[in-house]
Amino acid sequence: MAKHFIFLGAPGVGKGTQAQRLAQLIGLPHVSTGDMLRASVQSGSAIGVRAAAVMESGALVGDEIIIGIVAERLLLPDAATGVVFDGFPRTIHQANALDDLLAGRGDQIAAVLHIELADEEIVERLSGRRVCATCGAIYHIRYHPPAVEGICDVCGGVLLQREDDQPAVIRKRLAVYQTETAPLIAYYHDRSAYHLVSGEGEADEVFSRIVKAVEVAR
Ligand code: AMP
Repeated sequence: MAKHFIFLGAPGVGKGTQAQRLAQLIGLPHVSTGDMLRASVQSGSAIGVRAAAVMESGALVGDEIIIGIVAERLLLPDAATGVVFDGFPRTIHQANALDDLLAGRGDQIAAVLHIELADEEIVERLSGRRVCATCGAIYHIRYHPPAVEGICDVCGGVLLQREDDQPAVIRKRLAVYQTETAPLIAYYHDRSAYHLVSGEGEADEVFSRIVKAVEVAR
């Protein structure tokens, strides 16, 4: 039976960084719906064409598209023992669909890791974020700079600022989070898998909090 991990929290709290690290530590695939959508946009696929403008505006891509992408991803062999979701689910409808999908497979949610961080800190982190165009590694110009400016330490790829990390779009994404995604906190809150983790401090500190919560969960 597969056990899956979910990260909850506003854009910029460190979900991507922490989900990548957790996936590596426990040997499960990192499933970021945002990364999958960006790959679709780059490849020019039908989904990418539909999603591009929505993503640039900071709004959410339609639930049915996302649920379809996730359902297909879970069919790949490497998802057989579980995945670490990042950026999914993002609406109550998606959370319901995930529950149905997992019930159909006899799978469980091992942990819901809710990372919490003050709004001012979130804006600071998002506006300084840089992402490797090749491997997706995440940096911050002040808090986690690469050894050579603009170049990924991991693979030598070029570091870019995401289109949706511009200040106006950041504000829109935070507003969308409040209305569409924050209700998921109440949705998962009373489950034993739910863990609230402070997103403050260095990535290493946050990660050790997550590992502790996950050890309890396993
Ligand atoms: P992220 O990389 O997780 O911040 O996602 C970037 C953008 O992709 C979001 O602002 C949305 O437009 C879209 N997106 C990613 N995941 C989802 C999801 N689960 N539901 C709807 N839209 C999503």
